[in-house]
Amino acid sequence: MPAPRSDALALFGATGDLAHKKIFPALQALIKRGHLDAPVIGIARSPGNVETFRADIGESLEKSGRLDPAAFAKLSDLLGYVAGDYRAPATWAALRAALGKASRPLHYLAIPPSLFPTVVEGLGASRCAVGARVVVEKPFGRDLASARALNRTLHAVFDESAIFRIDHYLGKEAVQNLLYFRFANSFLEPIWNRNHVDHVQITMAESFDVQGRGRFYEEVGAIRDVVQNHMLQVVGFLAMEPPAGDGSEAVRNEQVKVFRSIRPLTSERVVRGQFRGYRNEDGVAPDSTVETFAAVEVEVDSWRWAGVPFYIRAGKALPMTTTEVIVELKRPPQDVFHERHLGHPNHLRFRLSPEVIIAAGARAKVPGESMTGEAVELSVRHQAPAEMQPYERLIGDAMGGDSTLFAREDAVEAAWAVVDPVLGSPTPLYPYERGSWGPVEADRIVKRHGGWHNPVPVTGVGR
Ligand code: NDP
Repeated sequence: MPAPRSDALALFGATGDLAHKKIFPALQALIKRGHLDAPVIGIARSPGNVETFRADIGESLEKSGRLDPAAFAKLSDLLGYVAGDYRAPATWAALRAALGKASRPLHYLAIPPSLFPTVVEGLGASRCAVGARVVVEKPFGRDLASARALNRTLHAVFDESAIFRIDHYLGKEAVQNLLYFRFANSFLEPIWNRNHVDHVQITMAESFDVQGRGRFYEEVGAIRDVVQNHMLQVVGFLAMEPPAGDGSEAVRNEQVKVFRSIRPLTSERVVRGQFRGYRNEDGVAPDSTVETFAAVEVEVDSWRWAGVPFYIRAGKALPMTTTEVIVELKRPPQDVFHERHLGHPNHLRFRLSPEVIIAAGARAKVPGESMTGEAVELSVRHQAPAEMQPYERLIGDAMGGDSTLFAREDAVEAAWAVVDPVLGSPTPLYPYERGSWGPVEADRIVKRHGGWHNPVPVTGVGR
């Protein structure tokens, strides 16, 4: 039986940056598709009323070029606004009144993490949590201990089944494509294991720097920002066993098994870098040791993957913005055409962004007399896919009670346990030039497998 839909959306942090950038466009898109007809109540400290709230949303959609007048008109009819401090009892009484007859509200906490305890307690004490779901924004803690504390806070009021931890990465079309490609095809399974896979590389490169968000980044760094969550989720989808049965827990059960089988990182398996000039950014300490680049080797200690390294590399101010996975297959057992010096002939390549590409790398004979070949790729590419934006998909899923694409408590904690030993600055930090592929020291991580595959623009694989 499908889970009952939420019958109201209470948006905490309704005047904030995330609400403007992601949530309002997603609500408008949901309306356009006919997926939202419940009241949407904004709750924030700024004084105002439903008219000012409406005008604020309209203006922000207009400014970003995303205003759809017909959908916005429908959204406007659903809006309500409660102005007040979350620490004031009057705010909760006003919210209770605004929710009216709604008996299954979805509370969306688009607020700074320091406010989570106040708001969760407020929801409990005002009985707004009865029958409700709650959406929590990343970051889910900043290490294992704080993640556990956050989970305790949430569980004091909400059952785990009512908690939706939103990580927009899981809502991305290309990431779901990984899962689909693996389990909708039969040809992969025989080779998808340590007998045939040599190693895996995942690169998440950003050509931009901290873009004025130095103060935020100082608290985070690359390992917390993207390795602990996005990159490990990609490892999870690549390495998991087929989900047993239907339902949202089936995929999450398998993902968490992967995280639990990953050995906690040790300093020998991590290289941290910082681009030159980072320390001059606004909000950054002049002697900051926060990494803007990390390369790590992850070991998935399972029957399927024992001995197959998963190399992850993520960084800012790199030559291009892209995320790409290369699954390198082992060489043929015999060197029939004397081409061993050319490296591994076969790979699967998944470009997750900005384009969505799935490619199989092989060698094919060059026409002519001699038995020599060339590297070719058979690829499928979705250029600029007309995809549903992650926030639209995820808010729609949360309203419908489908938690497949949300992070579960045990998975969050297992992922923190992987990176916990190398958080902070226990390992050396190497400088690198803007526009390079990170510090040369990162080559050490993949040396025994021939070096990193640097993604190249649009098509192809390069070294
Ligand atoms: P902002 O600081 O921009 O917004 C905070 C919101 O909380 C505002 O609406 C503010 O209201 C409200 N607020 C703060 N204190 C109180 C209070 N005491 N009582 C009532 N309302 C209060 O934060 P962001 O939108 O940037 O971030 C929200 C969450 O989303 C955070 O957990 C962040 O980590 C996460 N996130 C943000 C991303 C982004 O791109 N911004 C990306 C991914 C995650 P008012 O302004 O009216 O005072």
